[in-house]
Amino acid sequence: MFPKLTSVRNSIVKISGKSINIKPWTNRNVLYYENAKDDVQTAINNNLEFVNIFEKKKLFMDAVFEHLVKPNIEYDGILTTFEKEVLFIEMYKISRGTIITLSYSCPKCKGKSANNFDITKSVKYSDVKLGDINTNNVCFTLKSSSFDESNYPDIADQDKLIYFYCSFVKEFTFKKEKFIVTDLTEFVNWVLEELSETDYNEFLELIVTRLPSMEMKAPMKCDFCGNTEEFTCIQLPDFSLVTL
Ligand SMILES: [Zn+2]
Repeated sequence: MFPKLTSVRNSIVKISGKSINIKPWTNRNVLYYENAKDDVQTAINNNLEFVNIFEKKKLFMDAVFEHLVKPNIEYDGILTTFEKEVLFIEMYKISRGTIITLSYSCPKCKGKSANNFDITKSVKYSDVKLGDINTNNVCFTLKSSSFDESNYPDIADQDKLIYFYCSFVKEFTFKKEKFIVTDLTEFVNWVLEELSETDYNEFLELIVTRLPSMEMKAPMKCDFCGNTEEFTCIQLPDFSLVTL
């Protein structure tokens, strides 16, 4: 089903101290999106061994940014994946409205019901979730990261990606001693050399759930048996009717 464009108004998105003008999509933009979905799936399939939620979102934004966000913003600077996502969502709102109708398959009775995903209510932006994360042997305390080009990682470049993850760590406690992270490179080297494989994997797993992100959760109700459950979308649901 080809999506309908609902609006032609421009808007301003305020994010991370930036104020960015956005304009709605044209049919040409949207046509591109239909094709980009395959690119996203291919990228994810090619990178399966290390794709977590953050990396999936990044693959998605990398695939759509050039054609679906960049031509419709007035901004030349560097944007993080999170900022691109926010622009993408805000652009969706002014282009297509805030309601996306989904076809929800009930896990209990297998019935299919139409459910609305309301972008205004179901999408929440969150900064890094501060506080501690604990692996078996290390406690990491998180902070907001200041973004620059060096932590704008390509997910194929695992070395840079670890810099990005580590840039959110303020201090850590190891064997009852507390260390403050003053030099990022030094800390990254410590993480790579000193952490056991288990602690390293646990650290990565925990930190991706705390990064600045958008949470997209909506209750899905089954019309047949009344079962309701909260559904979490990894990225914005498709333009047209989607089967969950
Ligand atoms: Zn049901």
